[in-house]
Amino acid sequence: MINRCRFGTKLFCMGLVLALLTGCGQGGTDTTADPAESPAASEEAENAGDVTDQAEEMPTGPVESSIFVEAVKDLPEDFITGFDVSSYLTERNSGVHFYDYDGKELSEEGFFTFLRSCGVNYIRLRLWVDPYDEAGHAYGGGNCDLTNVTTMGKWATDAGMKVLIDFHYSDFWADPSKQYCPKAWEGMDIDAKAQALSEYTVESLNALLDAGVDVGMVQIGNETTGGMAGETSWPKMLQLFDAGSKAVREVSAAKGKDIGIAVHFANPEKEGKYKNFAYKLSAAHIDYDVFASSYYPYWHGSLENLTAVLKEVADTYDKKVMVAETSYMYTWEDGDGSGNTESRETVGSVWDYAVSEQGQADVISKVTRAVLDTGAGIGVFYWEPAWIPVQVWNGEETVYLENQKIWETYGSGWASSYSGGYDADAAQYYGGSAVDNQALFDFEGHPLESLRTYLYLRIGAVAPVSVSRAEVEPLLGAAGEIPEVPKTVTVEYNNGTSEEAEITWKEEDLQAAAEGGAGTYTVNGTYEAAGETHAISCQVTLNTKNYIVNPGFETATGHDWEIIDHNNIGCVAIENDLNNVLSGNGCLKFWSEQDQSFTAQQVIHLESGTYRFGGHLEGGDAGDSPVFFIFVQEGDMVYREDTSVSSWQVWENPEIADIVITGECDVTVGLHAEVPGKAWGAFDDFYLYKLDE
Ligand code: CA
Repeated sequence: MINRCRFGTKLFCMGLVLALLTGCGQGGTDTTADPAESPAASEEAENAGDVTDQAEEMPTGPVESSIFVEAVKDLPEDFITGFDVSSYLTERNSGVHFYDYDGKELSEEGFFTFLRSCGVNYIRLRLWVDPYDEAGHAYGGGNCDLTNVTTMGKWATDAGMKVLIDFHYSDFWADPSKQYCPKAWEGMDIDAKAQALSEYTVESLNALLDAGVDVGMVQIGNETTGGMAGETSWPKMLQLFDAGSKAVREVSAAKGKDIGIAVHFANPEKEGKYKNFAYKLSAAHIDYDVFASSYYPYWHGSLENLTAVLKEVADTYDKKVMVAETSYMYTWEDGDGSGNTESRETVGSVWDYAVSEQGQADVISKVTRAVLDTGAGIGVFYWEPAWIPVQVWNGEETVYLENQKIWETYGSGWASSYSGGYDADAAQYYGGSAVDNQALFDFEGHPLESLRTYLYLRIGAVAPVSVSRAEVEPLLGAAGEIPEVPKTVTVEYNNGTSEEAEITWKEEDLQAAAEGGAGTYTVNGTYEAAGETHAISCQVTLNTKNYIVNPGFETATGHDWEIIDHNNIGCVAIENDLNNVLSGNGCLKFWSEQDQSFTAQQVIHLESGTYRFGGHLEGGDAGDSPVFFIFVQEGDMVYREDTSVSSWQVWENPEIADIVITGECDVTVGLHAEVPGKAWGAFDDFYLYKLDE
């Protein structure tokens, strides 16, 4: 199932060289290169202490791999390329094994040396105050108490990496939706709580440092978008931020240890949030160094936006910025029987990257680029790349029940049932790993090629050109008609290029759909790319009837669409123009030298039910703030969906779903545009389907 590329000795040597150059000893690395096969590797291993010799052999060009990663020329040597492996110890306690690229099993500590050899230079660990119930049962999620965090922190330190301590200031998960107060601080007024937080921070940090953990940075709270330690009002949160920050500076001074202070928020996509948070922190004179963000590509908006919002904070308040959490899927499969946050069934997520090792590498590369582009970026952390199944689930209930026992016993699931008294969400949904399909190890513990992306960001990796992604959107159509499947597909290659390829659809699949009545069908086809024939399929949902009359503007009558040219300049009309249709011959075209304002609408008699209305448009030169929308009006109720145009034959598909009609009535559906002179484009293929027939 998983493409695990076995590496030759060539890259092993490069990993070694890089490790040496960045000051990491080989320590417990499981060196399995066969000296007989590779004299060079043997020699390097013997001379491992001699940095100068090795440096001369540092590769200047990309290495061969199964994934494509462009070297980032301007990546600073000290740029943080980190992993958050907070669940690791409980995974090991659960009997999980991890392996290197030669299939050799890694020891508990050797795991960290292996990560170091793959370009990881920082380990992030979350820390909970007291993740246990009254009877001493652990909450799970890695049981991240001070003892366990110290153990892992020490292993990371011994492997030559720095450690980021992620204070949640909670007994369990803290994120935008929950920031529960630690049990021990319950009922305290804000002054007492700030004092408790300060003391806890000092004690924890001292213990970690005394144990030899190389703490390079701490986070004052985790994803504190909506609160911290049970406080949701900003004045109180600021008091806690201040207490945490001062505690870290105090330890730093006493120990003579440089420790960076980060604040950490989520939801960069929410306009104005980060600007507002940074302003509040500044106004309250909170002393911190790094403004960190989570960035999950399927939830958190565009990378351009991420760069912009972080850059604004960095520039305005002279702060460093970083991404403290990111990850992506390499498979849609669920490895342990406990549902994943991102699965094919997940609603509302945006999947802009291939779900593959290449897709993971692309996400890491692009997030790194976005952080660098702020001009103040210091690093990126990949979240929980080693949170894999405790036993691989084969679909059998018995295996799931065995897994559940392991999660309950060792805390290797996201939550145990014992956490339910503290976290209501966990009471109902406790279970295993929700991110096993976003790990950088496969379900059995073998490293994916994407795990080496950080190393490849330094030196580059090339692979034979292959298709990374080529997908067509699910399609809606009318029952009894041949589905209007797309003629072409955008083929994305692993090297970052893309092109359009023609699709040959299976005639019998199209016929079967047309003759099968209302329902959902899979239509299969093929396309040619990179010298090979590839399979592709399109999911087609056929509804009984399209209520729009003349939906594709195929006939130029005045009896269905009412077309209103508000400025009376002749800017809009139904035309036959094959250059500007989505299908068929006709479309609703617009163009004028002058400012254009027009509406096209029709009145339709509907019975009770739930409906979906949509259409398509293409066009360009519409200025900075064009107005385009589709609408449905029933009495005083107006549904509206804004849309726009980008370029020729790039079709937008605005849609209004879940239109609820109660009782028989007339509704007006249509489109409206207000655009400047010289804007041009066309509308085509509108639809109104009843969803509950
Ligand atoms: Ca899972």
